[in-house]
Amino acid sequence: MTAQTSLLAGLDLRAEIDRLRKERNAVILAHYYQRPEIQDLADYIGDSLELSRKAAATDADVIAFCGVRFMAETAKILSPDKTVILPDMDAGCSLEDSCQPDQFRAFRDAHPDHIALTYINCSTEVKALSDVIVTSSSAETILAKIPPEQKIIFGPDRHLGGYLNRKFGRDMLLWPGVCIVHEAFSETELLKLKAQYPDAPVAAHPECPPHIIDHADYVGSTTGILNYAKATPARTLIVATEPHIIHQMQLAMPDKLFIGAPGADGNCNCNICPYMALNTLEKLYLALRDLTPVVHIEEGLRLQAKKSLDAMLAMASGTVGQGDLGAR
Ligand code: SF4
Repeated sequence: MTAQTSLLAGLDLRAEIDRLRKERNAVILAHYYQRPEIQDLADYIGDSLELSRKAAATDADVIAFCGVRFMAETAKILSPDKTVILPDMDAGCSLEDSCQPDQFRAFRDAHPDHIALTYINCSTEVKALSDVIVTSSSAETILAKIPPEQKIIFGPDRHLGGYLNRKFGRDMLLWPGVCIVHEAFSETELLKLKAQYPDAPVAAHPECPPHIIDHADYVGSTTGILNYAKATPARTLIVATEPHIIHQMQLAMPDKLFIGAPGADGNCNCNICPYMALNTLEKLYLALRDLTPVVHIEEGLRLQAKKSLDAMLAMASGTVGQGDLGAR
């Protein structure tokens, strides 16, 4: 036990977080991949697009972002006057790590006739080098608005980009990044599970590799998967995304059975995101108490990154149509 943990030992953390939330006029935003105890006390739970919209619209003074660093940075880009805190600043993302800004800049410079359509799972610097950001729930809507003759670089998730290429018949150039969580699902183990539950449809996130997507009855964002779970008449569902989303499914549909798709050893623990798991109730309490770790972004960089996020929010909501984009 650390000295900090022992100091917190007698505290009712949920009550303390609630007290600090009111004192600070804070809003707690949590991604579906957060631990259940964090989801349970959040003001809003959602996917990246929904949380971006909440961050842009909130009148709170403090945004406590329970997710990973690029999400908290997105909140700061959209709400620069707010204090944005992240319980653990080490909560990164394998996709962000795979796409370093200098390498991405060189890739863009090598393809001057391409626009950069970039998944939100990237650094602020890479957002500043991009034309339009997408999330897994907005990517299809946005891509459908870009003329087919427009050449596109898509990064950093090659599986999401490949899925979009196949679905839309596009030929986007793909950055070679992957999500370590979705990459770990095993086709062999999934087929064993399907044999065991032959009536259970498979719902998969598009960050999964094609050999998992090929067995999916539904492919979509975390929110899409949640909505599919509600809509399907099936009583059992196999879920191929980070398993903490199953918490919301079980709360909404206690009479259905949700089974996390397995990794190579047949145990789905390898599909828990190690970055998302860094956030704990203790760290959230300390972040609200001390207003640290806090997200800082240099203003020029923020304004540059905001352009690609604004393009996403406008295109995802239908206020920008095809022809509004062009290569740099
Ligand atoms: S689940 Fe994958 S994409 Fe999401 S934060 Fe974790 S490593 Fe990144």
